[in-house]
Amino acid sequence: MKAVRWFGRRDIRIDDLPEPKVGKGEVKVKITWSGICGTDVHEFTDGPIFIPVDVPHKLTGQKAPIIIGHEFGGYVVEVGEDVKSVQVGDLVAVMPLMSCGKCIFCQENRPNLCPDAAYRGLMGDGGMTEFIVVPEKDVQKFPEGVAPELVAFGEPFAVAVHALNRVGGVKGRSVSVVGAGPIGLIVAKVAEHLGAKPVIIFESDIGRRQCAKRLGFSHVFDPHNKSDREMFRALTNGLGTDVTVDAGGSAIIFEPAFPVAGLSSLQISFDITRPGGQVVLVAIHFPQIKLNMATFLSSEKSLFASWLYLPEEFEQGVKVIVELADWVPKLITRKIFIDSIVEEGLLELELYRAKHIKILVTPHHEFL
Ligand SMILES: [Zn+2]
Ligand SMILES: [Zn+2]
Repeated sequence: MKAVRWFGRRDIRIDDLPEPKVGKGEVKVKITWSGICGTDVHEFTDGPIFIPVDVPHKLTGQKAPIIIGHEFGGYVVEVGEDVKSVQVGDLVAVMPLMSCGKCIFCQENRPNLCPDAAYRGLMGDGGMTEFIVVPEKDVQKFPEGVAPELVAFGEPFAVAVHALNRVGGVKGRSVSVVGAGPIGLIVAKVAEHLGAKPVIIFESDIGRRQCAKRLGFSHVFDPHNKSDREMFRALTNGLGTDVTVDAGGSAIIFEPAFPVAGLSSLQISFDITRPGGQVVLVAIHFPQIKLNMATFLSSEKSLFASWLYLPEEFEQGVKVIVELADWVPKLITRKIFIDSIVEEGLLELELYRAKHIKILVTPHHEFL
C-alpha cells in the first residue's frame, strides 16, 4: 500500500509498504481522507519537531521514517476478535492520541498529559496511507449517510471542544477568537454552535478575514483597524469578551502568524478580554513572548492552556461535526491524491498558507 513517510527535513517519500494485519480488539480502516495540518508543513520545512529521529518513541517504539497524517479516518474493512462497537462498513474517525494508560495522568483521565503520550502521524504511523490498524477504542463512529470527508475533521474539532471545555463552556458568553487559521475558524464555529454570543474573530490577514466572512461569521475584525476596534468595544459593552481563545501563535522561524505592532496573539487575547475574564491558549508559541503582567495582575484575568483533548471530547467533536455537516466541508479548499502530497499539499501550504483552510489527501482514487 502507498504511504507518505517523513524521512527528514524536505524529505518526504511515497513508499510501498505491506498492509497492516488486524489483531484481537483491533479495527482495520480503509482511509478515505486525511487533512494536512500546519504541524505537517512545519515537520516538512523545519523538522524534526515532534518526530523522533534518534531514539524510538517509548510508547510506539517508532522513529523516522514515520507515516504522517493525524487528521483522518475512513471505512472499517475488517474487525478483530472481540470488537463490538463497530462493524465492517462503518465510517469512523481515528483518534491520533495514544497514551500509556498506567501513569497518574492516564489514571486521572488526562491522557493528553501522559509523559509517554504519542500521536499517530508524528510519533507513530498515521493516516496518509491506504489502511491503518488501530485499537477499537481509538475509532469514533459516524452515523450512516454522512460524507466521507468529515472524518478528516475529528482531530481539529476535538481540539476546539477541549479549548472551550477548559473554561467551563461558553453557552451565553461572549467569545473572541484571535487568528482565523483552521483551528481558529473551527473554535469560533464550535463556540457559536454551543451557544456563545457574540462570537468575534480577530485576524490581521485580509484574505483570511474574507474567508471567515464567507464561512458565515458576521463579526470579523482587523486588529489594526480603529473602527473595527470601536465596533468590538460596542459589541462587548466596552469591556471585552468573557472568553478569548488565542489561535494565532507563531510559527518556528517564520514571522509571528499574527503580528500587530509587535504584539503576540496572546497579548492581544489578554487585551480584548474583559477584566475577570478567561483566556485560552491553543496556539503554539515557539519563541518566548512578552506579556504585560502588570495589567494581567490588576485585571484578574485567567489563562488556561489547552493541549490536545480527552477521548470523550473526541467523541463530542464528532457529534458536533455531524450537527454541522453542511458547514464543515466549506473548510476544504483543495482535495488531492496521495501522489501529489508534496507539490500540491505541503509546498502549496508553505507558499500560500493564507489562501487555504484545509487541504485533504486521499490514497484511493475512488474517493477523489
Ligand atoms: Zn494538527
Ligand atoms: Zn500515561
